[in-house]
Amino acid sequence: MTTSKEFSACIAHYDPNALPVEAAQDIVRQWAMPRAGDAQVERVGLRDALGRVLAEDVISPIDVPAFDNSAMDGYAFAGAALSHGGDTLDLTVAGTALAGRPFESTPGTDQCVRIMTGALIPPGCDTVVPQELVTREGAAIRFSTATLHVGQNRRLAGEDLAKGKPALLAGRIVRASDLGLLASLGIGEVCVRKRLTVAFFSTGDELRSVGDTLSPGSVYDSNRYTLFAMLERLGVETVDLGIVRDDRTSLDRALRHATESADVVISSGGVSVGDADFTRELMNLLGDVAFWKIAMRPGRPLAFGRLWSGERAGTGKSALFFGLPGNPVAVMATFYFIVREALLAMSGAARQPLTVIRAIAAEPIRKRAGRTEFQRGIATRDDDGRFRAVTTGPQGSGVLSSMSEANCFIVLEHARGDIDAGDEVEIVPFDGLI
Ligand code: AMP
Ligand code: MG
Repeated sequence: MTTSKEFSACIAHYDPNALPVEAAQDIVRQWAMPRAGDAQVERVGLRDALGRVLAEDVISPIDVPAFDNSAMDGYAFAGAALSHGGDTLDLTVAGTALAGRPFESTPGTDQCVRIMTGALIPPGCDTVVPQELVTREGAAIRFSTATLHVGQNRRLAGEDLAKGKPALLAGRIVRASDLGLLASLGIGEVCVRKRLTVAFFSTGDELRSVGDTLSPGSVYDSNRYTLFAMLERLGVETVDLGIVRDDRTSLDRALRHATESADVVISSGGVSVGDADFTRELMNLLGDVAFWKIAMRPGRPLAFGRLWSGERAGTGKSALFFGLPGNPVAVMATFYFIVREALLAMSGAARQPLTVIRAIAAEPIRKRAGRTEFQRGIATRDDDGRFRAVTTGPQGSGVLSSMSEANCFIVLEHARGDIDAGDEVEIVPFDGLI
């Protein structure tokens, strides 16, 4: 675990009032280590493994396929006959091999076996001529030797997965194809990492929960819902701690309770200049927390560090802490570009960099140099296969509808200024999280 000294050392190189996004990502990466120990592992049935992180390599107990078989419907024969000269080959059909019903004897050199896809290649045979290439009269077939070669249309035993070789590696997040692959190996249970637990709450006296009536000046709490959704999609266990009032006692209680109940604590709101002093005092008491002004938009203010549930830092149980800004779009952008990777790493997942695609700006985009901007974009594919991106319009960090409208972030690098129509930009398509 990174100590408080190391934390101070990592951030000492940077100006916390203008921390480049990459620097923040690096620091978070150093702090987000997978939880260690056997207690973090459990065995689950195949279906329950979907979306979970494999705790160990899965070694294939068998060859898949288990036997040489036909890739086509056609006729199996000994391929040596192809090199006996002659533009065509004449063979007699000696019998039939169906999937699950093998032809068990060895056909003669002038014979072949009618074979269906997936059927075991009969003894002595190694090549399959597809039925489309054959003319058949009674039990006799004829086909051209020109385009066939020995071994064609035969799937070899173990060509998909070889016995004794790792089929899936530890750290893999199990996907639909993996469930099928595990089933193809006859594996009904796997060792996965226990889910990471993440507690989250919203701060703000102006916040109301869905179901309450809005009084003048109050707003519905949306961050708890976007956070819930993104956390669920990441496959972590969520603990929703509701809305916390902007006062020292409530926040103190919420932070301690969250730290007790989770591996990671995420709050939103209350970290901007206006509120930071009061929050800062508490964080200093409860942990090692740095306040950053990340050079990004949206998402400038962010608190990050480790909290302790005891009387003071270093006592009781600890949890990693992300104090996200309050603005709804900033919450999503910081989650996506700062928090996501940390949660995956702590879950024991192998790194999964976000997909970045080059696109052409279809319109001029205003951008201020000296910060990374994550503008909400709509990307479409041109007839020529290139992506063209436009912004969703007003980019205020409270405009949550811009996130719903968008299908990607247009990521405009730190040093860049205004973008002209036709300039190249990078886009990060939303994946299932957003
Ligand atoms: P803060 O970072 O606490 O200063 O909040 C910045 C802005 O985001 C304010 O306009 C808040 O009302 C708004 N805000 C903060 N938390 C939430 C929330 N949970 N849901 C919706 N809006 C919020
Ligand atoms: Mg607030």
